[in-house]
Amino acid sequence: MRGQQPMEQEPQYGDEYQQGAPMPPDGGQFSFSSWVEEQVRNTPWWLISIAFHLIVLAGMTVITFDEKVTIKEEPTIIPLSAKVDKKLDLERPRDVFERKGIPKVGQENSPPTDEPAIFFPDAEESDHNESADNEDYGKMKGDSEEFLSAMPGEGGGIRGRQPGKAPGVYDAMGVGGGGGGGGRYGGRLGGRRNLVARGGGSQGPGGTESAVTAGLRWLARHQSPGGNWSTTGFDQQCASTKCAGPGYNEYDAGNTGLALLAFLGAGYTHLTKETYVDPHTNKTVCWGEVIKNGIKWLISNQDAEGCFGGRHGSKYMYNHSIAALAMAEAYGLTNRALFKDAAQKGIDFLLAAQNPYKAWRYSKQCGDNDTSVTGWCVMAMKSADISGLTVGRTGFEGAKAWIMEVTDEAYYKVGYTAKGTGKVVVQGKNEDWDGHEALTAVGMLCRTFIDHNKQDPALEGGAKLLVADLPQYNGKKIDYYYWYYGSLALFQYDGPDGKYWKGWNEAMKNALVPTQKVKKDGCSDGSWDVDVDRWGFEGGRVYTTAINVLTLEVYYRYENAFGGGKRK
Ligand SMILES: [Zn+2]
Repeated sequence: MRGQQPMEQEPQYGDEYQQGAPMPPDGGQFSFSSWVEEQVRNTPWWLISIAFHLIVLAGMTVITFDEKVTIKEEPTIIPLSAKVDKKLDLERPRDVFERKGIPKVGQENSPPTDEPAIFFPDAEESDHNESADNEDYGKMKGDSEEFLSAMPGEGGGIRGRQPGKAPGVYDAMGVGGGGGGGGRYGGRLGGRRNLVARGGGSQGPGGTESAVTAGLRWLARHQSPGGNWSTTGFDQQCASTKCAGPGYNEYDAGNTGLALLAFLGAGYTHLTKETYVDPHTNKTVCWGEVIKNGIKWLISNQDAEGCFGGRHGSKYMYNHSIAALAMAEAYGLTNRALFKDAAQKGIDFLLAAQNPYKAWRYSKQCGDNDTSVTGWCVMAMKSADISGLTVGRTGFEGAKAWIMEVTDEAYYKVGYTAKGTGKVVVQGKNEDWDGHEALTAVGMLCRTFIDHNKQDPALEGGAKLLVADLPQYNGKKIDYYYWYYGSLALFQYDGPDGKYWKGWNEAMKNALVPTQKVKKDGCSDGSWDVDVDRWGFEGGRVYTTAINVLTLEVYYRYENAFGGGKRK
């Protein structure tokens, strides 16, 4: 990329798939001249929706808008911050911990269970870890995992944690609510099979759950010995044939966060004990170890200010926000005191990086805002909030203001760095791909998580845009990032029984499940191809596999915020 000369771009006006394009659904005209001028300075040189986006810091990239505007932006290089050495002790043996309701690896076809969800009845107490008698931090009251399998939760509401409520009462705002109990992340830890069935997923060979398992096995097989997932060097772990599809190496922290989220999203934690023999490597694998090593890597790559991933690359807030999300969930799922400090500092840095009264972009308080980075930040804050970390309101309020600002009132399309942002491409990489309403999905999810108002017209308006462009594993329509946010947003809006979700879900499953690599494909078994995806060039195979696994976990990762699908 370095040294590539900017080229004059032909305007791509008229592309029917332009993202947030100045072309309303009815095909009429819509002029954006004024905002284009205004936004020239802020224009992203890379892409809009990128999951974490990975763009090469070295590139000279050109974006093309619908109108004849060509912008180039010189990337900046931010020096690595000094790492902070931390003494880690994640080895403390735990008592027997059983993930009730979750099928053991290799036993995905066992009958569904109605076992109650695992929950954290002492969540409030242990969230704070105040110890009057100075007992060992790791043994404080409430830090025992014994309660993990003890009691069903009382949560399951939609408004987030409520001050003053009794311990353990969480209005889960879409997170939790597993079969039989729920609360917080209960949907993952218990009753998952029922949630899969009710949400339109499927068990057994060829089902969404088998695809999740295969994807997690691929991720486990390609973790670096140091605990991270290498965006470019993951193939050093390959068994026989090398898996193709490296991305950009500045995104290792983001990819490590995403891979961890894929495991955590299915309810596995560092306490998971089950093992299996990987048929491609003949090595015995324990996902608990995989997760533990990934968390260790994140913590050891957190700087003194709380930023994960070393601030290298010019877009380090993608890395940080995704890693902070993973860390918040790792803490929320296990209540480990040891994780709390890193998780809280991660959120603290997130808030410190926010532009005053606004949102986020590539680096700390850079003055620019974009919807894509902001979406990950909102996810991280929400998971932190329900995990009992201190978040405060300014983060959510700024994010809400930003989403409002960039939402088109007529069609509810959500822009990238401004209202009505047109299709943005990375020169020489993905200008041939179709654009989608990925950021509209991000905006819907932010509104849902912040406001919890199903009557918000932007939600149904966005839903209509999404179902008009269903997932298709077809040429230049493939966009895993769009499918991820579209699945989350629509499941939150009216899953699992609503018409928007049902139509989307069938298309999503048909796009993802049959296209996953299988055993006969060798080491790539369980992964998804990279070069077919609109953003695969940046995130590589670790990204494509992790994001697709997360999409297939939509049935239980976050319960419907509006109560849809609750057990009758
Ligand atoms: Zn491989």
